[in-house]
Amino acid sequence: MNINHHLDEATLFSYVAGALSQGMALVVASHISICDSCRERVFETEAIGGALLDDVVNDNSPDSSSVSVKVNETALEQVLACLDEEAPVTTPGKIPPDGESTVGNTSEVPAPLRDYIGGSLDAVQWKRLSSGFYYFDVFSEQRGICRLLKVAPGKSILHHGHHGNELTLLLRGSYADEVGRFAQGDIADLDDQIEHQPLVDGDENCICLVATDYPLRFTTLLGKVIQPMTGF
Ligand SMILES: [Zn+2]
Repeated sequence: MNINHHLDEATLFSYVAGALSQGMALVVASHISICDSCRERVFETEAIGGALLDDVVNDNSPDSSSVSVKVNETALEQVLACLDEEAPVTTPGKIPPDGESTVGNTSEVPAPLRDYIGGSLDAVQWKRLSSGFYYFDVFSEQRGICRLLKVAPGKSILHHGHHGNELTLLLRGSYADEVGRFAQGDIADLDDQIEHQPLVDGDENCICLVATDYPLRFTTLLGKVIQPMTGF
């Protein structure tokens, strides 16, 4: 699998810190289960977190302000040094966090997602949204969504922005938008500054796992009118 789009640093740190919503965390876990590069970055980030913790625990100074200074000076340097390093060489066959090797894994459904939808995208109980659009809610979030989307070739999502972050993991097919072109394994890690209109550009259905923190911000009247019916 040739993956060209990866998680950004902020999402990675939030994932390691356990600060993501359940839906966001599922998308991240699904991506890192198939992406050697991002999985390695997670391990590095966890190591940085451990170093931060060690710094705090090992400092016995009674003055709390000196603890703060020590953490800021040493740990921050380590964090910045790691961020400056080249992306690590991928390690095929390395055991991912869920304990399942990706070698020889030809399933389109990443291991973390299988607990929710089973092992086949074709066996999902799709619900029809409109012509060429289907969805399956993986589970409900307080404000956002965590759902599978299946969109037919040539169809596009209505132009929209975001009130928070949106994570999209491509499971089958491809789409193109203002950000770039996304194919199987790629993750679109978008913040509230991005507005886009994804268009399915291949000759097969595009199936992706999408999680948002908040409802989308549709930029057209049509989008705003149909938003309550779509659950987006
Ligand atoms: Zn990645």
